[in-house]
Amino acid sequence: MHIFTAAIATETNSFSPIPTNEANFADDFHPAGSLPDTPVMFAAPMQVARRRAAEQGWRVTEGLAASAQPSGLIRKSTWEAYRDRLLADLQAAGPVDVVLLGLHGAMMADGYPDCEGDLLGRVRAIAGAGVVIGGLLDPHCHLTPAMLAAADVLIAYKHYPHLDAFDRAEELWQLCTRAAQGLCRPVMASSDCRMISLFYTPVEPMRGFVAAMTRAEQEPGILSVSLIHGFPWGDVAEMGTRMLVISDGDAAKAQSAADGFAQLLQSFRGSTMTPLVPVVEAVKTAAGHNGEAPLVLADFADNCGAGAPSDATFLLDALIRADVPDVAIAFLHDPQAIDLCKAGGVGARMPLRVGGKTSRFSGPPLDLDVEVMHIAENARHDFGIGHFEAGTVVVVRTGRNVDIVMSSNRIQCITPAAFSDFGIDPASKRVLVPKSMQHFYIMFSRLGGPVLYVESPGVASMDLPNLPYARINRDIWPFNAAASLCDRHHAVP
Ligand SMILES: [Zn+2]
Repeated sequence: MHIFTAAIATETNSFSPIPTNEANFADDFHPAGSLPDTPVMFAAPMQVARRRAAEQGWRVTEGLAASAQPSGLIRKSTWEAYRDRLLADLQAAGPVDVVLLGLHGAMMADGYPDCEGDLLGRVRAIAGAGVVIGGLLDPHCHLTPAMLAAADVLIAYKHYPHLDAFDRAEELWQLCTRAAQGLCRPVMASSDCRMISLFYTPVEPMRGFVAAMTRAEQEPGILSVSLIHGFPWGDVAEMGTRMLVISDGDAAKAQSAADGFAQLLQSFRGSTMTPLVPVVEAVKTAAGHNGEAPLVLADFADNCGAGAPSDATFLLDALIRADVPDVAIAFLHDPQAIDLCKAGGVGARMPLRVGGKTSRFSGPPLDLDVEVMHIAENARHDFGIGHFEAGTVVVVRTGRNVDIVMSSNRIQCITPAAFSDFGIDPASKRVLVPKSMQHFYIMFSRLGGPVLYVESPGVASMDLPNLPYARINRDIWPFNAAASLCDRHHAVP
């Protein structure tokens, strides 16, 4: 058995003002054969294949692995360069039995609204009809007809936060290598849920929904069940939530299961995410909070994990203006402010213009008097199944113990280590503000305080009906409150 495996992933926010080019991929680019053993989330299929193939005595050829922090549209030349390099790696591998790809599923480049469909189609053309092609997806993806037509097996992470990337990669490995040995015959079917939302799986009703998907996979003939959450900020025709079921050779069974889950999900409309709280209300709650554990205010719409700039000041400004004491916020992306702080050094007291630099979606810059509290070079932010290179991290203090953790790289705040690694005791704070929309939840909720998701303005706003979409199908919930289940992709044998 000869397996080829590679990974290329990012998530494209059509409303993000940050273009994506080679530089965005450069921080997390591993040419063929150079992927480390330390966990790299989007390369999970490669790292699982490396381990499992060694156990079996099978041959694995690794192609490139590349990912970029979610941003705006990818430059045409950038996409074509990475795609063609991956395809060259596949060609150089010679005949293979299985192709396993670590993907995201919401990549858009100039001229390529469906990068994954483009890639999978070309992989199929090179690999040939008899080769099993499998892809691991982030559920915040667009499931397109081109992807379904070219791949044999597509599996999405079940959990949001995505703690199960490596578990799903194991399933992808099992399913694809079994299919290549003739031990099963995967048949995919999808069902359009005619909706878009976010789906918070640690809490009901989605926790039970995930459990039901896992139970269904134990039923005879059902090989895999995935919920494609969809990515609300990708302006493509296929934007939306879909069920994806893989059966063992039975297209009708796969379709019926997908439709059943889609109908169940429709009954959860409006209840799959925690309601957002207006900034004014969040600040009022913060001012009155005197519990033992810090109040957590998620700066929802400035989540760089969904393509936002991470330099928005709306919530921070409101907290400072209300004179709320003992606040800490992370990570605010501001390389220019970091350079000034480095010039001043730890202990410097100086005026500093913070944030609000990328576009009007970031709000105004804040002119603050600060003290430089901490400088860390080559910092990283670990989150278990991977890590972010943070670049230089600088902490400045302003007002009544308001600590701002700035990073020179644009990264999402996922654990309270964003504070404790840089000299701030999270437990000593009244309010913690992670710039994140859900990945922060598991580790921050363990601190024991209340968690509010704040409806701050930004490019990842949930005010979807007012976003300037041009290509989506608006005949889905919440754009059309009555959108029902009547359209679906057909099974692809
Ligand atoms: Zn995701």
